[in-house]
Amino acid sequence: MTGFSYADASQQWFAVVLADHGEEARSRAFALVEAGDTTESGCIETPTQDARRVRFMGRQMPAYRFIFCILNGVEAGYDDVVRHRCNNKRCINPLHLELGSRGENLQDERDFAANGVDFGLL
Ligand SMILES: [Zn+2]
Repeated sequence: MTGFSYADASQQWFAVVLADHGEEARSRAFALVEAGDTTESGCIETPTQDARRVRFMGRQMPAYRFIFCILNGVEAGYDDVVRHRCNNKRCINPLHLELGSRGENLQDERDFAANGVDFGLL
């Protein structure tokens, strides 16, 4: 390896899965989305009390993180958080998710507390 490059274990895992198990990962992600219930606001919720977790290739994570990263080909590291634009933690609609930093995620929560969700922006 030349120069300084560092990928944390999360990034490495996504890199391997996307490169070698992409097909399987994508069908798993689509199956999770299809099994969800669509709400009036367009969210797709999992039939679980909290954010559903998914286990794949020896790793466990929230389903929304798995779905977002696999469907968008994103190698997310530990500092990358998948944000809910709809502020619904149970939502796994890929269109309601986006990548951000931990700081932005906190800002989202403050914005939501102050303004609520503007579904016109989704
Ligand atoms: Zn949503």
